[in-house]
Amino acid sequence: MQFSKLANYFFKLESTSSRNAMVEILGELFQETEASEIDKVVYLTQGRVAPLYEPVELGMAEKMVIKAISQGSGSSEQRTVELFKKTGDLGEVAQKLGEESRSKNQGKQTVTEVFEKLLEIAKTEGVGSVEKKIGILAGLLRESDPLSTRYVARIPVDKMRLGFSDMTVLEGLSWMLDGTKKHKDRIEAAYNIRPDLGYIVKQVKEAGLAGIEHARPAVKTPIFSMRAERLANAKDILEKGGGKMAVEPKIDGLRTQLHLKRNGKNCEIRLYSRGLENVTGMYPDLVAAAEEEVTCDDVILDGEAIGFDPKTGKYLPFQETVQRKRKYDIDLFSKNFPLKLVVFDCLIYNGQSYLNEPYTKRRELVEKLLKGNKIIVPAERHLVDKPEELKRIFDEEIKKGLEGIMAKKLDGVYQAGARGWNWIKLKASYEGKMNDTVDAVVMGYDFGQGKRNKFGVGAFLIGVYDKQSDQFKTLSKVGTGLTDQEWRELVKKGKELVVSQKPKNYDVNKIMNADVWLKPKLVGVFRADQLTKSPMHTAGYALRFPRLDNWRTDKLPQDATSLKEINEMALLQKKA
Ligand code: AMP
Repeated sequence: MQFSKLANYFFKLESTSSRNAMVEILGELFQETEASEIDKVVYLTQGRVAPLYEPVELGMAEKMVIKAISQGSGSSEQRTVELFKKTGDLGEVAQKLGEESRSKNQGKQTVTEVFEKLLEIAKTEGVGSVEKKIGILAGLLRESDPLSTRYVARIPVDKMRLGFSDMTVLEGLSWMLDGTKKHKDRIEAAYNIRPDLGYIVKQVKEAGLAGIEHARPAVKTPIFSMRAERLANAKDILEKGGGKMAVEPKIDGLRTQLHLKRNGKNCEIRLYSRGLENVTGMYPDLVAAAEEEVTCDDVILDGEAIGFDPKTGKYLPFQETVQRKRKYDIDLFSKNFPLKLVVFDCLIYNGQSYLNEPYTKRRELVEKLLKGNKIIVPAERHLVDKPEELKRIFDEEIKKGLEGIMAKKLDGVYQAGARGWNWIKLKASYEGKMNDTVDAVVMGYDFGQGKRNKFGVGAFLIGVYDKQSDQFKTLSKVGTGLTDQEWRELVKKGKELVVSQKPKNYDVNKIMNADVWLKPKLVGVFRADQLTKSPMHTAGYALRFPRLDNWRTDKLPQDATSLKEINEMALLQKKA
């Protein structure tokens, strides 16, 4: 496919805010694309040249892209900067300058050619790489027709602005098959196990639904983590779980998947966060321990990485553990905050998927594989069939400073990417108030007044994800309850996420509009006194006296508390 044709599709997608229209456009695009190119097309719709979990970044700052646009179009850098200041969108700048400097050889590149060039930019490293990257992008822009430059220039700065999520792509794929959305659930189930849109789309393009019927997890491809439901007391939990359940401590660390493959002496290890980020480089201590302590050949383990005090063995609070999620000073922090990986599940063992096996069987494997280990250890577990017993274990864990417990259904399968009743959490109730925190996404902020003015942010708008409509719905404006350091972090993180218009998948009441809109990326954990009904907020509820607990750099926005859970939490609150 010519890239200029793909750019036309991008423009159609960008120009509509109707989700149904997007699904249809994507369906048509997938229909027209050859199987050999379809994975590349899908990665490009996401503004990427690899699946989300592969750390392949183009590594170009705005300034570099400005230089490339100016070189590619023959306009001065000053004019490029001026236009950028006016529009705030490098894509528009590139298109306008491209229109002024049209030449005959523009617009003949194929999708594959553009993709390969972008990949080359990502792979360019070392001395002189800044100039080289600028040169490649400038060449690419020079050979692109004006509409194509709009998108080629946006990709390196991660601002495609097409306004749809992975779920829309999956629906588009269903649409490609027979002009309906009815296959979305089946496609999504496969995607949760193999969250690589390029792979899924290619399989379906080549073999229809049969192509993903037997989607298996694969070592070195992260799986969407299973999550837990919540209930307010021990009795309800045991009733829901079939009378007898396994109870494990709820470890408040960083959800981590360990992938290990041995081939003779060669041992490959990858660690992934809950947000599917490859975090192997951050935890050299866990990698070394895994190589020594996990003795099988081919395995995926699921657990929580948590800091501990080497003298007492006691686990550290989340705020200390989270310091290990960093890109610099890794060795120093590994020494000061050593980690354990507390494993509670096994998803693949010796090449075989265990996702559909019962919990008890997966748990047996965990114990067998990790027996006697020091760093990669199995989670503690008790078998319980009486509410009093469950409550006693819960109280003990709280006394030890943990968050609560996880009760697991003995015959429950591993529901990748889902929040299911096979796992039920019980957390401490905070002085009879809301008995759980809410993970919410920062959607935008207002300019500061008064005390907060020194940070440039007065209040910020937070929201939750509604899977049904694939939209973010607002839950509160937060103006207090942050330390100066937390405000600073918000401003710093927010800067990278600013977009010039309200994202299409934000459902916001006019009265709650923000001065500055942010891409949905920054997730915070909020504590509040209560959930109260609110006509102002599109979630239908608002948080009463929200306070930030901490920023959660490990959670994806879709992973935040869902609208469905907010409704359930409101019900539990009434019951308590
Ligand atoms: P929450 O983040 O409050 O929804 O709680 C669910 C999370 O608790 C899971 O996603 C895991 O990251 C974490 N967790 C801690 N301990 C366990 C455990 N024993 N089993 C499963 N998940 C656990």
